[in-house]
Amino acid sequence: MKNLYQDTIVAPATTPGTGAISIVRISGPEAFRITDQVVKLANRTVADAPGYTIHFGEVPALDDVLVSVFRAPHSYTGEDSVEISTHASAYIVQELVALLIKAGARFAEPGEFTRRAFLNGKMDLAQAEAVADVISSTTAASHRVAMNQLKGGFSKELAGLRSELLEMASLLELELDFSEEDVEFANRDQLMGLLKTTQQHVDRLATSFHQGNLIKNGVPVAIVGPANAGKSTLLNALLGEERAIVTDIPGTTRDTLEETLNIDGILFRFIDTAGIRESQDTVEKLGIERSFQSLSKAEIVLIMLDATQPVEELETELQNICCKLDFSRQKGFLLLNKTDRLEPDTCNKKVIDLNNFVTSHNYQLIIAKLSAKKEEGIQELKTALFQAEKDLIPNEDACFVTNARHFEALQNASAALQTCRTSLSRGIPTDLVSEDLRRALASINAILGTDLLDPVEILHNIFRNHCIGK
Ligand code: GDP
Repeated sequence: MKNLYQDTIVAPATTPGTGAISIVRISGPEAFRITDQVVKLANRTVADAPGYTIHFGEVPALDDVLVSVFRAPHSYTGEDSVEISTHASAYIVQELVALLIKAGARFAEPGEFTRRAFLNGKMDLAQAEAVADVISSTTAASHRVAMNQLKGGFSKELAGLRSELLEMASLLELELDFSEEDVEFANRDQLMGLLKTTQQHVDRLATSFHQGNLIKNGVPVAIVGPANAGKSTLLNALLGEERAIVTDIPGTTRDTLEETLNIDGILFRFIDTAGIRESQDTVEKLGIERSFQSLSKAEIVLIMLDATQPVEELETELQNICCKLDFSRQKGFLLLNKTDRLEPDTCNKKVIDLNNFVTSHNYQLIIAKLSAKKEEGIQELKTALFQAEKDLIPNEDACFVTNARHFEALQNASAALQTCRTSLSRGIPTDLVSEDLRRALASINAILGTDLLDPVEILHNIFRNHCIGK
């Protein structure tokens, strides 16, 4: 394989901080020569060391190191590469990188190692993008989805779509070659059927973006309700530590506060909102406005009410919030808090009254009793939240779209396929249908990186979000 780059790059591959070792990575045609200038191995040079070998060496007056050798094309980047393991001292790493730069390497740009891996054909673009997702995954679900993408599961699905599209495009183009003879190689009914199933496949992937996004970024859960209902206390109880400010002065939480929690492999993003109430205070009003915004964006809404209030008041508050909910896409919980301050009979009576109210208004809410302060009902709430989203735990080979660029490309592909179907049904000339089919194909290719319209710009945007050394 011919590598595209003439220069050799270097960067720390591990983050600075306390630890046993740090790794400095070098990649490019001069990786071995440059390393030999800086590191002395016992009785050989890096340049004559076979690939996949590790050698003890010394950077004079700096550190004893281990040098791992990877020969092109059998390395992460596909180039000659070296990884130098040092003791984890920020000073050692900084000095070593400086020595390697002095010997001829250049400091790598963010994501440049992965970018080289893509450009040298070691992985497609969707896989290269998954590297960042694997590194930033925090739950079993996000890790599984990112790993599947990295290992090429998603790319395989796209390759399947690509070959279906190619086959249809080539049949149509064959017709164009014989246009004088007025022949139809592609049976129109069959073609319509194929276009339909391909578009359904594309749409299925595009639709998975909503779930993919929840897996990657967390399920947004808004905690809403009147001031002093116990929203901040609930957030602290869920997180098991003091995060939100708890006071009995109404209006303490003036802005929204966000914390994440991993419940059995699913990431939830809890948003503690300012108490919803009439207020003349400008800052508090802004906070309340944000509460309503969080409410509309949330996947799950926890409506927190103070159970010690009279039922009529609870019903009014519930109505104020429910009229802002969209039960067709949002899941709601009604949490009756401060039950520790009520006699069990009174509490149960309130639950029955509110249940009747909820049913008569057709609100789809799960009602639960709670004492956030005494941490009663918290575990049950966590279990209920997990149950509500358990479909987000992906199978071993589940494909979810988690990247906005991929989502957009799939939407473009679907639109192009829709145009093809409409054109075919209206008997539009083959050359125009074929053009739209090519457009769908180009969108799928763009995800894999095989047909980028503006490669420099696109690659820059993708890899600038990677960190240095990756
Ligand atoms: P927020 O305004 O809705 O965020 O309410 P806070 O969490 O700040 O709580 C308001 C007051 O209610 C504080 O004094 C809390 O200690 C108290 N509180 C919260 N939850 C409970 C509970 O379950 N039982 C009792 N007795 N008091 C609670």
